Amino acid sequence: MRAAVLTEINTPLQILDLEQEPPRAGEVRVKVQAAGVCMSDWHIMNGDWPLPLPMVLGHEAAGIVVENGPGVDMVRPGDHVIFSFRPHCGHCRYCSSGQTVLCIGRNDSPRWLMHDGTARVRLNGEPVNQMARIGTFAEEVVCPAEQVVKIRPDLPFTHAAIIGCSVATGVGAVIRHARVPAGSSVLVIGCGGVGLNIVQGARLAGASLIIACDLRDNKLEYARAFGATHTLNASSGNVVKQVRELTDGLGVDTAFDAIGGEATALQAVDAVAPGGRAVLVGIPAFSTRAPINPSQMVYGEKIISGTYYGSVRPNIDFPILADLDIEKKIDLDSLISRTYRFDEINEGFRLMLDGAVARGIIVFD
Ligand SMILES: [Zn+2]
Ligand SMILES: [Zn+2]
Repeated sequence: MRAAVLTEINTPLQILDLEQEPPRAGEVRVKVQAAGVCMSDWHIMNGDWPLPLPMVLGHEAAGIVVENGPGVDMVRPGDHVIFSFRPHCGHCRYCSSGQTVLCIGRNDSPRWLMHDGTARVRLNGEPVNQMARIGTFAEEVVCPAEQVVKIRPDLPFTHAAIIGCSVATGVGAVIRHARVPAGSSVLVIGCGGVGLNIVQGARLAGASLIIACDLRDNKLEYARAFGATHTLNASSGNVVKQVRELTDGLGVDTAFDAIGGEATALQAVDAVAPGGRAVLVGIPAFSTRAPINPSQMVYGEKIISGTYYGSVRPNIDFPILADLDIEKKIDLDSLISRTYRFDEINEGFRLMLDGAVARGIIVFD
């Protein structure tokens, strides 16, 4: 089984032949069909998130179940599935209340090994970790069965793959987390894979004013195609001031930070109107702090909230997102600006960092 392995930070991924064990109890083996190239993989490659190596990266993918371990009955061989990068024990306080992204029932083993604490892939006999227990830059993945969600078979695998991270995170942030009302105003800071999905989530929710902000004009063009009514290049003037000018001096009802940094978090908080909400979506470096202005929060009754993975419940929301795509209520086709062969994976990261693509996807033979 070939997989793209990070053996050392700041080095390219290497496609290596790994030994893979069959699924044990509660696990499945999936033949990967398509896998998206995401900034989160890059955060591991460049050392932002220090994790133990070697590791098979990749967490945004779809494929076909080929083998069930003992006791698995949620999926069957032949089913088309989307990978979820969060575990889901089904019985902790968060799973019980529907906040499955916050599951605390699977904390006994590190999140790069199976629940029994062992690895399913090896290189020359030595264990290799799997990002988020999946590691989908691989021809085949053995993982906990709870981390695959069955979806309708008529959805293209490339579309299914991106539902597993960027679409769930972006659209989910709007419709599941912030519950943006029709007719309201929205600001989206950062128009990468997640930000563009926030834009189209806002369009789906019926927002009247959708202001997209980025440093690159080509990203802002994408944002217009996905429903932005106004665009701001953050390099040409004060973002908050320009947002106020577009909103009768008040600011927007909801501002989303899809970047995850001190400056953009503060822009989001400053750009919301009194009574509005700033939503933090992009994952910052662990060390980031941002000095908010508490009096603005009090007098303006502003809300700041964070959302992880769009606050989705994968078993419910992945099939809904698939339906929305088939019904053309969201546009996943236009998000996929490039596909790559597996051996072009490092080129995929280069183009993502250049800002040249909305989303690049590896398609497996
Ligand atoms: Zn991702
Ligand atoms: Zn749980």
